[in-house]
Amino acid sequence: MTAPVLALHGGCGTLAQELLPTAEWDEVRAHLAQALRAGWSVLRAGGSAVHAVEATVVVLEDSPHFNAGHGAALTRDAQHELDASLMDGATLQAGAVCTVRRIRNPIRAARAVMEHSGCVLLSGPAGDDFAEQQGLAMVDNHWFTTPRRVKALADIQAGRAGGAIRPVSEADRHGTVGAVARDAAGHLAAGTSTGGFNDKPPGRVGDSPLIGAGTYAMNGVCAVSCTGMGERFIRHVAAYDIAARMRYAHHTLEQAASHLVHDLMHQHRIGAGLVAVDAQGQVQAPFNTLGMARGWIDATGQLRVATHQEIFDAGRA
Ligand code: ASP
Repeated sequence: MTAPVLALHGGCGTLAQELLPTAEWDEVRAHLAQALRAGWSVLRAGGSAVHAVEATVVVLEDSPHFNAGHGAALTRDAQHELDASLMDGATLQAGAVCTVRRIRNPIRAARAVMEHSGCVLLSGPAGDDFAEQQGLAMVDNHWFTTPRRVKALADIQAGRAGGAIRPVSEADRHGTVGAVARDAAGHLAAGTSTGGFNDKPPGRVGDSPLIGAGTYAMNGVCAVSCTGMGERFIRHVAAYDIAARMRYAHHTLEQAASHLVHDLMHQHRIGAGLVAVDAQGQVQAPFNTLGMARGWIDATGQLRVATHQEIFDAGRA
């Protein structure tokens, strides 16, 4: 038996602290803690890392505060196209969906693809139809829409038309949610879910549903979920690069994760972040932006959540 570990992120595109009322930041942290508790209850009952990651991400998808599920970014034509993936480090099995429009919780569809489709990735209407056949909850596309995303899209599009209302921040464009876990059997898993970025071209697929780019898990090495401009993460096969550095160059998770976020992505001027756990249960959550919603539960069952630099105790699991 190993001690279970769970960590999550809610995207590296966090707004400056002064832009939201304190009560709203309190709610963001409460949702992070709720997501951690959902995953932890799976791990505590002896459930798998895969199941715990799914349970954690579902809560973040249902929260309006994060760019995944309800609250997801809008495409250029004001639709939602969602991407998600899940990977089991014990078997290297993985499942993903991309550009789906009707699945309430895309991470559940990623798990269904992994377990029941014989494929790794299902796209667009085929992904939606598969999820429906699997009996997953389906919603209208506008169910994902929140006033904040509508306003951000309008601002971006007004800016492009030459009448910028205010500069577009990383937070208006970006976000993603993800989780990593090690279960009592020592198995690792990672999952990621996103709406991509506001004003993305229809049909655009980011790193989040691509195994190796935004998500990767391998027992004995690490589990990783990334956030930031996906195109760069795809080109660097970022999540797998962390595992490869650990396997072949014997870097620690801290060295490999820090290199990706603070050296590589920073050099490209890319806002980036990730959460990761290694086989020993060490958690890393580096980011190079103003903030990254994040949280973890350590082996003693203590919850910690944060949006900017300050880390808050959020009680016991
Ligand atoms: N990685 C996501 C994507 O490119 C977005 C983000 O995390 O900000 O779709």
